[in-house]
Amino acid sequence: MSALLEIKDLNTGYNGVSVVRGLNLTVKPGEVVALLGPNGAGKTTTLLTASGLVPIISGDIEVFGKSIKGRRPHMIAREGLAHVPEGRALFYQLTVAENLKLGAAKGSADIKKALGYFPALEAILDRRAGLLSGGEQQMLAMGRALMARPKVLLLDEPSMGLAPQMIANIFRIITEINKQGVTILLVEQNAQQALQRAHRAYILETGNVTKEAKASDLLNDPAVREAYLGTGAH
Ligand code: ATP
Repeated sequence: MSALLEIKDLNTGYNGVSVVRGLNLTVKPGEVVALLGPNGAGKTTTLLTASGLVPIISGDIEVFGKSIKGRRPHMIAREGLAHVPEGRALFYQLTVAENLKLGAAKGSADIKKALGYFPALEAILDRRAGLLSGGEQQMLAMGRALMARPKVLLLDEPSMGLAPQMIANIFRIITEINKQGVTILLVEQNAQQALQRAHRAYILETGNVTKEAKASDLLNDPAVREAYLGTGAH
């Protein structure tokens, strides 16, 4: 199979009004692909559409080689696509262990594998999610998504609101998850970290892709450096 996720000439948005227009994006097996761009560009909307949570206006999205049209979000998830949404969407009154179990494909979940990536969660399994730090909540949200043993993971702004050390830690874990065979599409404001970790990246600006390249090339692109890395052209 050439692509696990294939977005084709996609128009998507809300109430019939497109906020993403003519998007083409491919994620191949084993890749980390970053989707970067300013606030409001349509990155979150793209991920929500791929998960089946926002309807396609026109164009198509194929997940594992099949169009998602007419399929409900849980059906897409069951085939192996997991989504860690912006804001993490945890059950704050439930414990860490309970949140993890809710992510499992089947009731009797083995949480050991998820904890393998996030050993820090092991000591706080009985703590309510609402009492965790931002970094712990992000780890829990990712751990919960991994409970279903996805083939593709959509990550929306995993570094949002986290301290620099925790951001570095989360990105190190993202690489580790990828090395274990999970393909990743990553939406991120922290372009520096995302481009260092990704294989390829797309830049989305007000609904259109303005650049698509190897992440290492974008890291050295003067226009990208100036707009997204705050380091200016050189
Ligand atoms: P951010 O980093 O701010 O989340 P983004 O690139 O993820 O930016 P989106 O959240 O996808 O952008 O938003 C794209 C556009 O769609 C914005 O103009 C936003 O106001 C609009 N939008 C987002 N959610 C809705 C909604 N539920 N109903 C109507 N418009 C929406």
